Amino acid sequence: MDVQARLAELAKLPPSARPVVSVYLNTRWTDEDQRERVRIFLKNHLREARAAAERPAEEDLAWIEAEGQRIIGQVEFTDASGVALVAGGERLREVLPVRAAFEDTFVVDSTPYLRPLAGVAQEIVPALVVFVDGVSARIVALTPAGPGEEVTLEGEVPGRHSTGGWAALAQSKYQRHIDMHRDQHFEATVAAVAALVDRHGVRRIVIAGEVRTVAVFRQHLPDPLARRVVGVVAGARHESSTVIATRGAEYLARLDEQEDAAAVDRMLDAAAKGGRAVAGLDATLEAVNRNAVQHLYLARAFKRPGAVCERCGALQPPMAGACRFCGAETRVTELGEAMSSRVLATGGGVSVVNRHSGLDGQDGVGALLRYMAEVA
Ligand SMILES: [Zn+2]
Repeated sequence: MDVQARLAELAKLPPSARPVVSVYLNTRWTDEDQRERVRIFLKNHLREARAAAERPAEEDLAWIEAEGQRIIGQVEFTDASGVALVAGGERLREVLPVRAAFEDTFVVDSTPYLRPLAGVAQEIVPALVVFVDGVSARIVALTPAGPGEEVTLEGEVPGRHSTGGWAALAQSKYQRHIDMHRDQHFEATVAAVAALVDRHGVRRIVIAGEVRTVAVFRQHLPDPLARRVVGVVAGARHESSTVIATRGAEYLARLDEQEDAAAVDRMLDAAAKGGRAVAGLDATLEAVNRNAVQHLYLARAFKRPGAVCERCGALQPPMAGACRFCGAETRVTELGEAMSSRVLATGGGVSVVNRHSGLDGQDGVGALLRYMAEVA
């Protein structure tokens, strides 16, 4: 499943007369209390939705309830860290498991609520976590939905037995024999990694294992694979693949956060110099309205009331009535969600950024543009 492509399709849906229910659940629970909190969250919000004046269709809520309970019961998607559910009529029924965790969220609106998904879609490109020690290897594919295909390799390296009274020569021969077998094991592991990289279009590799073993293993990686290695995490033979894969996924999530912060720095710098970027709400709204945004950066806390024109579609600050561009009627919208949807629908990307003081100083929003900003 291509989350990015599905996201763009959902963003293109016109506002529906029938309320659309969007639910995000964090399924990375480590104990029963956390699972119970998610269960109560869903129950309370379903009850509120059923009592609300603008009530979603009962069949939509019933579907959300059934899917939610199945997920919380962990019958499905046990490896995913988060699940998005969207329901709004017969043709709109989405279940999107992803390996990034969400905050629990329940939104009823005229369009799908996409920001949490937009915030993670960039991050869930295919990756591999490779655990390797001197005699075995486990390679786990991290798909958008969580840990996927796993390959286990068991080498036939002789153990490092006590050598008793062997002569120094015997000892060195024995050591060479072990080293040779270890090299063969590493070569075989490299071949398996290369095959998985091809099959899954893997762009990033995290290696897990003991520091010295990993260092030797990395010397066996040919350049195209070595360039994809983005980090090393701890890993031990007795640990389960799920534990190691989760550690690798968390490493990637932290890396994404750092990369986002660096990208925001570059974006703000370009905006300040009048390059291919804008910062601040007014300039970003203007760029979104021109469909000029290649990538939108939005602070996680960003939330602004605004208006969208019923005729020309322009997004704008809250209007008392008429569109400031064409004079037609407007309806109320939340600008963060509206800008995200518009950018996704026109093929752009969206990053939701945690704490960045530079971005916060620019209303919490900015964008890279497809071309130079027009001089006003
Ligand atoms: Zn208008």
